[in-house]
Amino acid sequence: MATDPSPGTDQAPEPRAALVTDFDGTMTRRDFYSLVAERLLPPGATDHWGDYRAGRTTHFEALQRIFAALGDREEAELLALVDEMGLDESLASGVERLAAHGIETVVVSAGCSWYIDRLLGGAGVDLEVYANPGRFVPGQGLLMQRPEGSRFVSHDLGVDKAAVVRDRLARREWVAFAGDGWPDLDAARLVPAERRFARADLAAAAAAEGLEFRPFERWSQIVDAVVGP
Ligand SMILES: [Mg+2]
Repeated sequence: MATDPSPGTDQAPEPRAALVTDFDGTMTRRDFYSLVAERLLPPGATDHWGDYRAGRTTHFEALQRIFAALGDREEAELLALVDEMGLDESLASGVERLAAHGIETVVVSAGCSWYIDRLLGGAGVDLEVYANPGRFVPGQGLLMQRPEGSRFVSHDLGVDKAAVVRDRLARREWVAFAGDGWPDLDAARLVPAERRFARADLAAAAAAEGLEFRPFERWSQIVDAVVGP
């Protein structure tokens, strides 16, 4: 149960609600892995993403292998791609507007905190982020690991997005979820249609099983939908 802080303390009040949101393709226009595959992997490189889509490997292992195939690249080349992901330009003000309404923004990503933390930090946004930790090692590429020890670890995705949504459902008045990919479907099923925001592959997957959702193109449109323009 949320309680108001005592007068005279600077402790922030507990949020009353939560927007749990995917990162790649949801807060940004492009996915990091797809930019990597398009720009930095040589023609004829192993199709790890195809292996995932065909059910031959997990989502986590596909991304891990794509990122580890960058051993002959400079870190600066990866950083240039991070800048091309197209973070929503209204992200910081959107997060502030949500917070002013008692709504926390929680990021859940099957991608890597190596680029997520950079983009959020560059935008001056400090959020709770559940993503797979990673570091760039020259000669070895971007080394991504599952968040072992986290309450929200998943074998398939690294991060168990649905478990984060369940955690918030138990502690908040309501929870909204936003995403754009197949790995978002389990989490999206847990929230009501009016608080389920989807685009791209998640929208198609939801429609295929008769799940209603609210479409969006840019993340800040979700803020408008949740708190009003
Ligand atoms: Mg995504």
